[in-house]
Amino acid sequence: MLQKRTRLVRIGTISIGGGEAVAIQSMAATKTIDFESTAATCQHLADAGAAIVRIAVDSKADAEALREIRKRTTANLSVDLQENYKLAALVAPYVDKIRYNPGHLHHSEPQKSWQDKVKFIVQVARDNDCAIRIGVNYGSLDPNLSHGIKSHTDTDIDRVINSAIEHAEFIDTLNFTRYCVSIKSSDPATVTAANRRFNELRPDIPLHLGVTEAGLLPEGLIKSRAAIEPLLAEGIGDTLRVSLTVSNDRKVEEIIAGKLILDNVRKGTIHSGIWKRAALNIISCPSCARVENERFVMLAEQIYERTRAIQDYPLTIAVMGCRVNGPGETDNADFGIWCGVNSVNLKQNGTIIGTFSYEEVIPKLLNLIEDWKTNIY
Ligand code: SF4
Repeated sequence: MLQKRTRLVRIGTISIGGGEAVAIQSMAATKTIDFESTAATCQHLADAGAAIVRIAVDSKADAEALREIRKRTTANLSVDLQENYKLAALVAPYVDKIRYNPGHLHHSEPQKSWQDKVKFIVQVARDNDCAIRIGVNYGSLDPNLSHGIKSHTDTDIDRVINSAIEHAEFIDTLNFTRYCVSIKSSDPATVTAANRRFNELRPDIPLHLGVTEAGLLPEGLIKSRAAIEPLLAEGIGDTLRVSLTVSNDRKVEEIIAGKLILDNVRKGTIHSGIWKRAALNIISCPSCARVENERFVMLAEQIYERTRAIQDYPLTIAVMGCRVNGPGETDNADFGIWCGVNSVNLKQNGTIIGTFSYEEVIPKLLNLIEDWKTNIY
C-alpha cells in the first residue's frame, strides 16, 4: 500500500504521513476521571495495535486525571477538546496530540475570535511538544458555515472542506506544521468525496480518516469500509479510526476492524465504495467518556433490534450517547435520541418530542414511527 507523501507529523513515539505506515487509532470510553480504568483501557488498546488513543476532556477534574493516566500507560495519547479550549493548557503536558473541532470553538467566550482561540491552542501545542488535529465534523460545523445543511450535496461538502481549509491556512500563518486534518460524516459517500477533494487542495496535509457515528457491527464496519478503503487504495489517508458502538470491554474491536481494512487494501479486495444500505439508516456514536449512562450501548442495540421490521422504510434514526454532542448530531435525522444520566431525549425532524426514561423511550419512538408510516403513504 503506497500512500501519497504528505508531510511527516510526529505524535509521541510514532509519526503519520511522510510515507509512514497508516496508523490505527481508537478512543477510550471510560470516564476520564476514573484514571485507573482509563489508563488500563488505553494500554489495552495500545497493546492491541492502537498507535494513538484519544481521551475526552471536558473539565478541570478530567484534565487532572490525565496526569495520572500518563503515569500509567505508554500509549500515545490524544486529547479531545470540547467547548473549553483553554483546558488544552492543563492537559498538554501529559498528551501527544490535541484535537479540536472548529465547530466547537464558538461556544465559550463568544466575544473572542476563533483565530485567537486557535492561536492559544497552537502555542500550547508548541510549548508542550504536541501535534494537533483539526477535526471537522459534518454534524457540528462552525455555525457560520452550517446554516441550511440538510442533505449531503456537493455544496454542503464544500462547506465542510472550507472549514478545514480555513483552519489549516490559519495555522500555516503561525508557522506550525505538526498538524493533521479529519473531515468526518456519518455518510460514507460524503467522507470519501470530502477527503478526496481536500487532498486535491492540500496534498501536503496528513489525513485522519473515519466515519463518525458509524454504529453497531456489522453496519459500522461496512460503512467504514465503504468510506475508507477507496481512499486508502488511492493513497489518501495517513491514520484511521473505525468508530463502533460497542461496550468498553469490546473497544479493541475498533482496532481489529482497522487492521481488517488495511489488510483488504493491501490485498486489493477493497470495498466498492458504494454503501448499499437497507432503506432504514441507524447511526449511532461509538460512545466516549462523555456518556452519562452506560445503558446507551444497550439502548442502541435494542433500537436496532426493535426496528428490524421497518428496514425497508426510508428513515434515519440517530442515537447519541451524551447531551454534549447529541442535540447537534441528531439534527439531520428523522428521529434523534440522545442520552442523559437518567433520561433520554427524543426529537422528530428537529423538534423536541420530550424526555423519557430509558424504559419509556423505545415504545415512544416506535409509536412515533407508526404515526409517521401512516402519514407518508
Ligand atoms: S455523541 Fe457524545 S458520547 Fe457519543 S462519541 Fe460523541 S461526545 Fe462521545
